[in-house]
Amino acid sequence: MNVQTKFSEAASSLLSSASSLFIDNEFRAPKTGEGSPIKVENPATLEALLTLAPLTTADVDDAVAAARDAFDNGPWPGLPATERARLMFKLADLMERDAGLLAELETLDNGMPTVLSNHMALPLSIEILRYYAGWPTKLDGRTIPATPGAANGAPTLTYTRREAVGVVAAITPWNFPLGMAILKLGPALAAGCTVVFKPSELTPLTAMHLARLIAEAGFPEGVVNVVIGEGSIVGAHLANHPHVDKISFTGSTEVGKSILGAARGNLKRVSLELGGKSPVVVFADADLEQAIPGAAMATFLLQGQNCMAGTRLFIEKPIYETMMAGIEQVAKGLKLGDPFAMDTMVGPLISKAQQDRVASYVVSGVEQGAELVTGGNRQGPGHFFEPTLFSNTSADMRIVQEEIFGPVISAQVFDDASDLKALARRVNDTQYGLSGSVWTKDLSKAHGMAHLIRSGQVAINCHGAVDVNVPFGGMKQSGWGREYGEAALDGYLETKAITAVF
Ligand code: NDP
Repeated sequence: MNVQTKFSEAASSLLSSASSLFIDNEFRAPKTGEGSPIKVENPATLEALLTLAPLTTADVDDAVAAARDAFDNGPWPGLPATERARLMFKLADLMERDAGLLAELETLDNGMPTVLSNHMALPLSIEILRYYAGWPTKLDGRTIPATPGAANGAPTLTYTRREAVGVVAAITPWNFPLGMAILKLGPALAAGCTVVFKPSELTPLTAMHLARLIAEAGFPEGVVNVVIGEGSIVGAHLANHPHVDKISFTGSTEVGKSILGAARGNLKRVSLELGGKSPVVVFADADLEQAIPGAAMATFLLQGQNCMAGTRLFIEKPIYETMMAGIEQVAKGLKLGDPFAMDTMVGPLISKAQQDRVASYVVSGVEQGAELVTGGNRQGPGHFFEPTLFSNTSADMRIVQEEIFGPVISAQVFDDASDLKALARRVNDTQYGLSGSVWTKDLSKAHGMAHLIRSGQVAINCHGAVDVNVPFGGMKQSGWGREYGEAALDGYLETKAITAVF
């Protein structure tokens, strides 16, 4: 496979002026630059895109201090709601103006096929920001007919205010870099919080351009600060920091648990969007023309590096062979290669470590007795991996229980569709509970099963039905709290009750 790194002049200018630290609306050099440099590669070609000076905890302290000052003394939380909204809409307009560049950056350092970055990631990110830009003017409280004893029978007025939680540290993974950033910044800014944002060090490019756009939009200094550095240093310091009021984290369940521990010090608010191992349940009466590509892309989209990936496939016995043959055909037909080619559907995985991880799960699947139907191989020279389908899997296999975060489907058969509760016990036999889907034409089976699946989001006859105003988040070890929609704002607001006696 011959894939070459090529980028536009605008991307080249960003790469040559890059810095790992953005504070008070300007890029700064780190204080000491001590430590290992951050090397950002193109995962499709393995060529170096840029090298950033590493941050130390002293740099993180500066970013937190700027956000703290902008919250405690700066204008942001007290700015008229209409003005906060105006700045957020302006930022969305600038993102739209630069959508081509942002999509290019997303494909360059993440490997996301250009059809996804241009036609899904960018439009969705802009919509999410516009959705939250509509909220500052609508964050109202309630009046409550209270009769507090302290009023001694005098008339009172009790009302609630929704106030910003304070300084938010937003920590995100590498799979949808810009979308993850906006999912945090949108509700945080709408609520009146200030932010220190730490993207994954593997994919910092869109965050760096977003920082430029924040300055251009005219946000007050210190409202959004960006720190690009290793999770174990920069992320961990934010999670521990006494001047951070809330951590909003998206990433692995393992790191999410370590963040919970670190947040204890000052009892930070914590929201966690974590891993998943979501079920796809296909009944015999499903429309197979929809269910076959739907079940395939539930996992193969973005090479399976998708927290909603429907990697545990349950198929009713009469259609098992047909479904499996159909998914195999889809897997073999997806074009793998240069993510900048318009017909590419499978780009590279993010890193060598991720490629090794997926390959090791394929070995484990075979060792534990699953039948490898198609795929299972690396492709190069980048971190490519073929869409992979396993048959005859069972609940005791690692490929069925553990999040692979790669293009691997593990299928199993079920043969008693009349006992939905028994089926649900199998479907729910996982520590995760993020997403899932049910495929059938029978309404009572569809909704009955959707109610029984222990996940924050279940789709019927489609998979991963996210939209700006639909709450999304995990049950069980897939997380705490919700993103998207009105529900996300709850994580960035405190409710204050005020009572007046008159
Ligand atoms: P990680 O948990 O490894 O990293 C996520 C972020 O946390 C990165 O910015 C990382 O920094 C940082 N980090 C790493 N260690 C620490 C630490 N000790 N303290 C604070 N921050 C730290 O996840 P991945 O980046 O590998 O992303 C994949 C995971 O994310 C999968 O499990 C996936 O399911 C989950 N995910 C969940 C989503 C959801 O909405 N539920 C959406 C997307 C992904 P760095 O990378 O720079 O070291």
